[in-house]
Amino acid sequence: MTFQALLVEKGGDGAVSASVQEIDDARLPDGDVTVAVEYSTLNYKDGLCINGKGGLVRSFPHVPGVDFAGTVEASEDPRYRQGDRVVLTGWRVGEIWWGGFATRAKVKADWLVPLPDELSTRQAMAIGTAGLTSMLSVMALEKAGLSPLKGEVLVTGAAGGVGSVGVALLARLGYSVAAVTGRPDAAGYLKQLGAETIVDRSELSEANSRPLESERWAGAIDAVGGDMLARVLKQTKYGGAVAAVGLAAGAAVPSFTVIPFLLRGVSLLGIDSVMRPYDQRVDAWNRIAADLPMEKLEAMVVEHRLSDLPELANRILEGKVKGRVVIDVN
Ligand code: NDP
Repeated sequence: MTFQALLVEKGGDGAVSASVQEIDDARLPDGDVTVAVEYSTLNYKDGLCINGKGGLVRSFPHVPGVDFAGTVEASEDPRYRQGDRVVLTGWRVGEIWWGGFATRAKVKADWLVPLPDELSTRQAMAIGTAGLTSMLSVMALEKAGLSPLKGEVLVTGAAGGVGSVGVALLARLGYSVAAVTGRPDAAGYLKQLGAETIVDRSELSEANSRPLESERWAGAIDAVGGDMLARVLKQTKYGGAVAAVGLAAGAAVPSFTVIPFLLRGVSLLGIDSVMRPYDQRVDAWNRIAADLPMEKLEAMVVEHRLSDLPELANRILEGKVKGRVVIDVN
């Protein structure tokens, strides 16, 4: 048997290229569950893996795709049976293990989560790692005491994948949401998802040397990092919390001091979706099924095919992808 996949190869000159190929099943990795993949999606990390950047892919040829949803074809693990609908995110699948940009994947049963009945495999990938991470952020902020009564919540990188789902989730939960974007033409889209206020990226992207600024946000989901994260922390209200998710503008936060922690009791919450324990994944997927407005989700989605991925990979690295890209692998 064979399957189709986006195969990333490295030439003798070190150049990396990606193309859709027919691959023999015997080349699948040695997992215990085989999944007929229906949908995958595009994440920032996929952009890096398809281009061989960031040192994420250790061995070539490689099938990228950090998440997928589909139906179990065969299982050597008693937890899964043929026909079960499953979703996979994280565990470095698509980086050091062949991933979801394929019609078939073979993975460890521990990495899978049963798909909630309310969600289709396409919706699961419209949500994807980005949406799961947004939900994990909201849950962490709630645990830190955030509620709609506390005031405005900020989402940075709002027109991206994590940001779009974050805006829609928070708005549905009754929060007043402010969305930071560098794309003025995304304002209508973000308002449609539920943002009340649009903040231009330039208002927050410049470093400043002040240890604190006027208190503005009860909480935040930050997909951007860099100086923007420092500015957000300086503007967070007394006792507020910021979920640090991403590094679209960079990993270093040079203009940051600990003053917001010491004088305002602000919390910085680290959010990891990749190694997240099983029970917390199940909770987050169930919360998504209950709380994410599906009509808003659909408004974020554009659908593409495996062969579109090389071009899409460049666009996401340039910050030009809006919302969520779903890949119909078949
Ligand atoms: P996207 O590319 O879809 O979104 C990122 C958004 O950030 C862009 O759409 C843009 O939003 C904004 N942005 C891009 N470059 C800059 C810049 N230089 N300065 C300020 N804003 C910028 O990526 P995702 O939403 O999929 O991921 C966002 C981040 O979260 C990435 O760094 C990713 O690696 C990380 N991530 C982390 C996870 C975890 O487990 N912690 C899981 C998933 C993602 P706009 O156009 O609105 O300004």
